[in-house]
Amino acid sequence: MSRKTTVDCELCGDRVPLEQAKEALFEIGSNAYHLMDLCKACLGAQLQAAESVNDTSGYRQTAAALIRLPGSAVPSRV
Ligand SMILES: [Zn+2]
Repeated sequence: MSRKTTVDCELCGDRVPLEQAKEALFEIGSNAYHLMDLCKACLGAQLQAAESVNDTSGYRQTAAALIRLPGSAVPSRV
């Protein structure tokens, strides 16, 4: 079995089960996005920091959230 069942969070580096990871699209400009795999905790933190969050259903199925941070920033590792 070589199915991918874990995801490395791109912010904290934690390896989490696939079902506990989410993809988030960060808006970094008009029609410019940065996709990141995030664990639940990091996604929660980014959602709190977000200027706006849009439901992406029908836009990009795999992405959990479309997030715009203040200043169209991309989150970075702490
Ligand atoms: Zn994380």
